[in-house]
Amino acid sequence: MKSGGLSLPTATATFHDDENKMAAEKASGDGEELTPSLTIKEKESLDGLDSRLFGFLSLRDDGDRTKTLLGKAVHCYESLIVKAEGKVESDFFCQLGHFNLLLEDYSKALSAYQRYYSLQSDYWKNAAFLYGLGLVYFYYNAFHWAIKAFQDVLYVDPSFCRAKEIHLRLGLMFKVNTDYESSLKHFRLALIDCNPCTLSSVEIQFHIAHLYETQRKYHSAKEAYEQLLQTENLPVQVKAIVLQQLGWMHHNMDLVGDRTTKERYAIQYLQKSLEEDPSSGQSWYYLGRCYSSIGKVQDAFISYRQSIDKSEASADTWCSIGVLYQQQNQPMDALQAYICAVQLDHGHAVAWMDLGTLYESCSQPGDAIKCYLNATRSKSCSNTSTLAARIKFLQAQFCNLPQSSLQNKTKLLPSIEEAWSLPIPAELTSRQGAMNTAQQNGSDYWNSGQTVSYNPVEQQIHTQCWTPQKLQQLEHLRANKDNLNPTQRLMLDQLESQFALMQQQQNILNLPHNCKNQTSSTREPSRKQLSNSAQGLHKGQSSYLTGFNNEQPLFSTESNKYLQTSKIVKNQNGHRSLPKNSATQEDALNHLSLHSHIATSATSPMSTDQTNIHTVTNFSSPPNGLPIINGEELENSQKSINVDLRRVNHKSHPQIPSMSVSIYSNSAEVLKACRNVGKNGLSNSHILLDKCPPPRPPTSPYPPLPKEKLNPPTPSIYLENKRDAFFPPLHQFCTNPKNPVTVIRGLAGVLKLDLGLFSTKTLVEVNNEHMVEVRTQLLQPAEENWDPTGTKKIWRYESNSSHTTIAKYAQYQASSFQESLREENERKTQLKDYSDNESISSENSGMKRKGPFKIIKSGINIDLSDNKKWKLQLHELTKLPAFVRVVSAGNLLSHVGYTILGMNTVQLYMKVPGSRIPGHQENNNFCSVNINIGPGDCEWFVVPEDYWGVLNDFCEKNNLNFLMSSWWPNLEDLYQANVPVYRFIQRPGDLVWINAGTVHWVQAIGWCNNIAWNVGPLTACQYKLAVERYEWNKLQNVKSVVPMVHLSWNMARNIKVSDPKLFEMVKYCLLKVLKQCQTLREALLASGKEVLWHGRSKKEPASYCSICEVEVFNLLFVTNESNSKKTYEIHCHDCAQKSSRNLENFVVLEQYKMEDLIQVYDQFTLVPSLSSSSS
Ligand SMILES: [Zn+2]
Repeated sequence: MKSGGLSLPTATATFHDDENKMAAEKASGDGEELTPSLTIKEKESLDGLDSRLFGFLSLRDDGDRTKTLLGKAVHCYESLIVKAEGKVESDFFCQLGHFNLLLEDYSKALSAYQRYYSLQSDYWKNAAFLYGLGLVYFYYNAFHWAIKAFQDVLYVDPSFCRAKEIHLRLGLMFKVNTDYESSLKHFRLALIDCNPCTLSSVEIQFHIAHLYETQRKYHSAKEAYEQLLQTENLPVQVKAIVLQQLGWMHHNMDLVGDRTTKERYAIQYLQKSLEEDPSSGQSWYYLGRCYSSIGKVQDAFISYRQSIDKSEASADTWCSIGVLYQQQNQPMDALQAYICAVQLDHGHAVAWMDLGTLYESCSQPGDAIKCYLNATRSKSCSNTSTLAARIKFLQAQFCNLPQSSLQNKTKLLPSIEEAWSLPIPAELTSRQGAMNTAQQNGSDYWNSGQTVSYNPVEQQIHTQCWTPQKLQQLEHLRANKDNLNPTQRLMLDQLESQFALMQQQQNILNLPHNCKNQTSSTREPSRKQLSNSAQGLHKGQSSYLTGFNNEQPLFSTESNKYLQTSKIVKNQNGHRSLPKNSATQEDALNHLSLHSHIATSATSPMSTDQTNIHTVTNFSSPPNGLPIINGEELENSQKSINVDLRRVNHKSHPQIPSMSVSIYSNSAEVLKACRNVGKNGLSNSHILLDKCPPPRPPTSPYPPLPKEKLNPPTPSIYLENKRDAFFPPLHQFCTNPKNPVTVIRGLAGVLKLDLGLFSTKTLVEVNNEHMVEVRTQLLQPAEENWDPTGTKKIWRYESNSSHTTIAKYAQYQASSFQESLREENERKTQLKDYSDNESISSENSGMKRKGPFKIIKSGINIDLSDNKKWKLQLHELTKLPAFVRVVSAGNLLSHVGYTILGMNTVQLYMKVPGSRIPGHQENNNFCSVNINIGPGDCEWFVVPEDYWGVLNDFCEKNNLNFLMSSWWPNLEDLYQANVPVYRFIQRPGDLVWINAGTVHWVQAIGWCNNIAWNVGPLTACQYKLAVERYEWNKLQNVKSVVPMVHLSWNMARNIKVSDPKLFEMVKYCLLKVLKQCQTLREALLASGKEVLWHGRSKKEPASYCSICEVEVFNLLFVTNESNSKKTYEIHCHDCAQKSSRNLENFVVLEQYKMEDLIQVYDQFTLVPSLSSSSS
């Protein structure tokens, strides 16, 4: 059935009619079973029940009654869908999705939502649907998709009533994804919103503090935690966990004074935490670690013992107990404790390592090697390289030992295999007596200060969560409950109580699916179902679900296989594979320690997906002879998922809607139309606008380029004389979208540009105290990017920022050059001692490991905007042809009307070999101009604009933010993905023109300076890409440095446009803004809000919201306080409304008269091409 744009009430009405019909049929006596039906009153109460109520249902007085009603509604809808063979209105599925979501039946909710999605082409207009879908994805830890769905909601409806909940969840997900900047931004956006959400503001503040801690910003974290403790009526559980974090941080970090002081602080905090919450095994464990580190063995053991009794984090606890025993010279007890640890968590690298050390100390290198190998296999292993070396060393030793000596030796400890199956004596956990004696005997040993290599941060993340292995183990033990040996039974008991405790703990600071007021007992059943999914999640819940194979074990290899299959199928279909990021889920488990869903994430989302999507296909697709499982086709179900998932990700939208006649109508008509719609308050200012679908990154161009075309030659122009530089076709060549980059060779020479004005020597002479931003970077091998340990190639390219002066950087640059000369000389003398061959072969001997890397410094973003300070330099640049000049009539950035540093002003870069500018597109996809001053060369890597979506995908896969993070593409990845990369050397005097939207990254080969700025040619392509990025930035919550609305109005005022395409786009933008201003203005006035005339000064910059950083045009919402102080803290309408529902804390300032805007709009017309404005 075609999807109609029916509203939900209409859909319900249709449903009602159908039912009447069926009832009539029934009455006529065809003996059919009675279809359940809803009364009119029930239908009325169902109206408006959608995803937005999620988490808040229980707060309503009629919560329980509503749930009963929802259950009935689901039943009715389902039977009707079955009756109609799936041929019902699409909204029907959406509503069914909402009902199931509210009932927390996530798999059925997802199923129904997917169905709606596939039927409704403009699904993206439905914010409640997107929100519901996002919640379901979030529940399944499918963060990649949850993020997209939530971003879409805020894009199509920035004033969405659950925006706070969305920001909170985005904050949590970005935190898990290690995109801390975005995470912080969303937490802050959640905090300013005064609407209710599932976490209280102190809990959000806790997450912010913990975010600092995760980022190793310990002082900020400490400050934030301490501030939280000042909060009046701080809930006990929050207080306990804040104190716990503070204690642990003091133990690990040098936040206060000497070692004794910091341990005293740590112990105090942890004790206070335990006063608040004595049941926290985690706090007991930390306390044990503190006691252990100051030599209070007895106290340490008691604390560990407490921790185990509270049954939490026991792999770490056992490991620490092992360390204690080992230090007390009780190797057998240590062994058993370590074995406990690694049996609980097979991937516990530290325990494996300690166990290896133990074996080594007992002269059992064979067992030690096995343990070290296990440690290196673990994901959490932080020093693989050291271990690898140790293993090698031991292996060599092992081989050299005479066989007899190995055999004759009496082993001190059982082998690892024996130990693994050894029952762990129960008295191990109550060894207090033994410890006492040990302590007396072993105090010397204790003082020897054996260190254990813990990485505090990783450790901490590790201890607070359940790994998949741990859950799998629990499931396994549960399944074999009746056949367990004593050790296993002990372990099961421990795991069970830990699991229960963890669930309790999660009720504290988790993100419940329902509001926190809900008692934990009501939530218990769903948790249980999830952790025991093998027992059939949906049994008997609805007729069409029964009998479906739902018996996927947790984390089974089956579901992994399934994941892979789905990837392959997608590839075969010729679509870009967007595999469900399995890493995301694991990361979630590893990092989502402070909130929920650890239990829920344990269920394999894919298997559930499979279930419900399968269910959906039942509505329409009959079986066609494929393998049958429980009466249903497996193949079919899998295919349907592939299709659905692909659709969710790949429906692409036109970025700028096609122009309609309406833009040519004059402003009077536009405004008249505006007036006739929606006078019902402030909330619907968006309804009026033609909604644009949320922007999407482009999919990889099709068909893929053949491999031999992946290294295209770089478009280069060799200039012979000055006339060449001013030859008009040069401009056209550069701005031609087919040329992502153009190198203009020898430009400085033919124009006789004095590059010496930008040399380090002159810079020091002219402005030696001028500020330089410094990036401290690792000197990487050319074109490659390795992790700091040199073990693997990565995309992340971190560099720390600091500041210095030109004089100081110049000194560094010079001394770096001197040093390199010296090294060169030394190498030459050394070469005399070795043969040439040898030195070459040692460099290229296929050794995969790199590093350690030298640290270098790059001077960036040196601001040359000040015309007084840099008069000669800036004047020299006016010799350039107009189209590359910093200021010209044909440069959009010259029409912004104010300075955007580094864009319409010059910036300087000072480099040493290896200095890098990581991958990026320019702000708002503007073009850029870069001249190498020399004396050294630079190497450029360039990828055409239409591949940015592919690079964005790579960034996401590597947990990087395409727009905000620093990344250096792995060329092998790009080659694999058929992404063409232009590579070239920029010599002194060469000008590089980066066309609109081109992705590029640069490294210095020699010592050199560069100057650069942006340019916006007056072309349709430039404008389109700038607007697209403006919208994408909005979706991504990133500030658009170029205010495209402000710029478009200035264009209409200042520029005669003769290109019809460019004209249409600008005019459309003006129209949209005009409508927006008018509607908002009238709504404000209608609600009794005064709009105060403010005007604007001549070079006043465009306004941005101080909260969400979107551009605010014309109507500025300024806090009362800042207005009276004249500091004007500007908000956008949405943010103003979130922080103050009736805008009572805000004044509205108006910057333009409507008549003025109307006049500009009407006078902006297409001019004949002869009077083209491009210069
Ligand atoms: Zn805002």
